[in-house]
Amino acid sequence: MSDNQEFRPINLAQCEPFRWQGVDEFIYKAEDGTASFKDVSRRKLFIESAESGIELRYFEIGPGGHTTLEKHDHMHLVIPIRGRGSCLVENRLFELSINDMIHVPSWSWHQFRAAEDEFLGFLCLVKVDRDRPTLPSESDLERLKQDPQIAEFIRHR
Ligand code: MN
Repeated sequence: MSDNQEFRPINLAQCEPFRWQGVDEFIYKAEDGTASFKDVSRRKLFIESAESGIELRYFEIGPGGHTTLEKHDHMHLVIPIRGRGSCLVENRLFELSINDMIHVPSWSWHQFRAAEDEFLGFLCLVKVDRDRPTLPSESDLERLKQDPQIAEFIRHR
Protein backbone atom coordinates (compact mmCIF):
# COMPACT_ATOMS: atom_id res chain seq x y z
CA MET A 1 0.00 0.00 0.00
CA SER A 2 1.44 3.38 -0.94
CA ASP A 3 1.51 6.18 1.60
CA ASN A 4 -1.66 8.09 0.68
CA GLN A 5 -3.90 5.54 -0.98
CA GLU A 6 -7.51 5.07 0.08
CA PHE A 7 -7.73 2.23 2.58
CA ARG A 8 -11.15 1.39 3.98
CA PRO A 9 -11.20 -2.04 5.56
CA ILE A 10 -14.51 -3.14 7.10
CA ASN A 11 -12.67 -5.36 9.55
CA LEU A 12 -8.98 -4.88 10.06
CA ALA A 13 -7.87 -8.02 11.85
CA GLN A 14 -5.02 -7.85 14.30
CA CYS A 15 -2.49 -10.58 13.32
CA GLU A 16 -0.28 -10.16 16.37
CA PRO A 17 -0.47 -7.66 19.22
CA PHE A 18 -0.54 -4.11 17.77
CA ARG A 19 0.01 -5.36 14.22
CA TRP A 20 -2.70 -5.65 11.54
CA GLN A 21 -3.13 -7.80 8.45
CA GLY A 22 -1.93 -6.00 5.31
CA VAL A 23 -0.85 -2.83 7.13
CA ASP A 24 2.71 -1.77 6.38
CA GLU A 25 5.02 -0.02 8.78
CA PHE A 26 6.31 3.38 7.75
CA ILE A 27 9.10 5.38 9.27
CA TYR A 28 7.61 8.35 11.08
CA LYS A 29 8.28 11.47 8.97
CA ALA A 30 10.82 9.85 6.65
CA GLU A 31 9.97 12.58 4.17
CA ASP A 32 11.13 15.39 6.45
CA GLY A 33 14.81 15.47 7.41
CA THR A 34 14.43 18.54 9.63
CA ALA A 35 12.06 17.09 12.24
CA SER A 36 13.56 15.84 15.48
CA PHE A 37 12.21 12.51 16.73
CA LYS A 38 13.44 9.21 18.15
CA ASP A 39 12.26 5.65 17.58
CA VAL A 40 8.76 6.20 16.18
CA SER A 41 6.88 4.02 13.69
CA ARG A 42 3.60 4.77 11.92
CA ARG A 43 0.84 2.56 10.50
CA LYS A 44 -2.17 3.72 8.52
CA LEU A 45 -5.30 1.83 9.57
CA PHE A 46 -7.95 3.75 7.62
CA ILE A 47 -7.84 6.48 4.96
CA GLU A 48 -10.98 7.82 3.29
CA SER A 49 -10.55 11.12 1.41
CA ALA A 50 -13.88 11.48 -0.35
CA GLU A 51 -16.62 10.78 2.19
CA SER A 52 -15.55 11.20 5.81
CA GLY A 53 -12.17 12.76 5.03
CA ILE A 54 -10.67 10.98 8.03
CA GLU A 55 -7.50 9.02 8.57
CA LEU A 56 -6.70 6.78 11.52
CA ARG A 57 -3.08 5.95 12.30
CA TYR A 58 -1.28 3.86 14.88
CA PHE A 59 1.99 5.29 16.16
CA GLU A 60 4.43 3.38 18.27
CA ILE A 61 7.27 4.97 20.22
CA GLY A 62 10.05 2.76 21.60
CA PRO A 63 11.14 3.08 25.25
CA GLY A 64 12.74 6.49 25.76
CA GLY A 65 11.64 7.68 22.31
CA HIS A 66 9.63 10.73 21.32
CA THR A 67 7.67 12.34 18.49
CA THR A 68 8.46 15.74 17.01
CA LEU A 69 7.64 18.92 18.92
CA GLU A 70 5.29 20.65 16.47
CA LYS A 71 2.04 22.50 15.89
CA HIS A 72 -0.35 22.81 12.94
CA ASP A 73 -3.83 23.89 11.90
CA HIS A 74 -5.35 20.38 11.98
CA MET A 75 -6.26 18.75 15.28
CA HIS A 76 -5.49 15.28 16.66
CA LEU A 77 -7.53 12.93 18.78
CA VAL A 78 -5.14 10.49 20.44
CA ILE A 79 -5.98 7.28 22.31
CA PRO A 80 -3.10 5.28 23.84
CA ILE A 81 -3.62 1.52 23.42
CA ARG A 82 -0.18 0.20 24.39
CA GLY A 83 2.19 0.90 27.24
CA ARG A 84 2.79 4.14 29.00
CA GLY A 85 4.12 7.61 28.32
CA SER A 86 3.47 11.29 28.59
CA CYS A 87 2.74 14.28 26.41
CA LEU A 88 2.88 18.01 26.13
CA VAL A 89 -0.22 19.78 24.79
CA GLU A 90 0.06 23.59 24.55
CA ASN A 91 1.49 24.41 27.98
CA ARG A 92 0.35 21.33 29.92
CA LEU A 93 1.98 17.96 30.59
CA PHE A 94 -0.05 14.75 30.94
CA GLU A 95 0.76 11.21 32.00
CA LEU A 96 -0.76 8.78 29.50
CA SER A 97 -2.36 5.43 30.18
CA ILE A 98 -4.15 2.98 27.93
CA ASN A 99 -7.64 4.14 26.88
CA ASP A 100 -7.15 7.75 27.88
CA MET A 101 -8.05 10.30 25.23
CA ILE A 102 -6.09 13.41 24.39
CA HIS A 103 -7.36 16.24 22.23
CA VAL A 104 -4.59 18.23 20.57
CA PRO A 105 -6.35 21.44 19.48
CA SER A 106 -5.49 23.40 16.35
CA TRP A 107 -2.13 25.27 16.62
CA SER A 108 -1.21 23.86 20.04
CA TRP A 109 2.39 22.72 20.55
CA HIS A 110 2.54 18.99 21.19
CA GLN A 111 5.02 16.19 21.75
CA PHE A 112 4.57 12.57 22.84
CA ARG A 113 7.12 10.54 24.78
CA ALA A 114 7.25 6.87 25.73
CA ALA A 115 8.25 5.97 29.28
CA GLU A 116 11.96 5.11 29.63
CA ASP A 117 11.18 1.41 30.15
CA GLU A 118 8.00 0.99 28.06
CA PHE A 119 6.60 1.40 24.59
CA LEU A 120 3.88 3.95 23.97
CA GLY A 121 1.43 2.99 21.21
CA PHE A 122 -1.50 5.22 20.33
CA LEU A 123 -4.27 5.64 17.79
CA CYS A 124 -4.35 9.10 16.23
CA LEU A 125 -7.27 10.47 14.23
CA VAL A 126 -6.68 13.27 11.71
CA LYS A 127 -8.31 14.62 8.59
CA VAL A 128 -6.84 13.41 5.31
CA ASP A 129 -6.55 16.91 3.88
CA ARG A 130 -4.29 18.59 6.42
CA ASP A 131 -1.50 21.11 6.64
CA ARG A 132 2.17 20.36 7.26
CA PRO A 133 3.48 20.73 10.82
CA THR A 134 5.31 23.86 11.92
CA LEU A 135 8.47 23.31 13.96
CA PRO A 136 9.46 25.58 16.86
CA SER A 137 11.74 28.55 16.31
CA GLU A 138 14.40 29.45 18.88
CA SER A 139 12.03 32.02 20.42
CA ASP A 140 9.17 29.48 20.53
CA LEU A 141 11.48 27.10 22.41
CA GLU A 142 12.59 29.84 24.77
CA ARG A 143 8.99 30.72 25.57
CA LEU A 144 7.97 27.08 26.10
CA LYS A 145 10.99 26.48 28.34
CA GLN A 146 10.06 29.28 30.71
CA ASP A 147 8.14 26.55 32.53
CA PRO A 148 10.87 24.38 34.14
CA GLN A 149 8.77 21.20 33.90
CA ILE A 150 8.20 21.78 30.19
CA ALA A 151 11.90 22.60 29.73
CA GLU A 152 12.71 19.23 31.29
CA PHE A 153 10.12 17.45 29.16
CA ILE A 154 10.93 18.78 25.70
CA ARG A 155 13.22 16.84 23.37
CA HIS A 156 14.34 18.94 20.44
CA ARG A 157 17.64 18.13 18.68
MN1 MN B 1 1.00 16.62 15.15
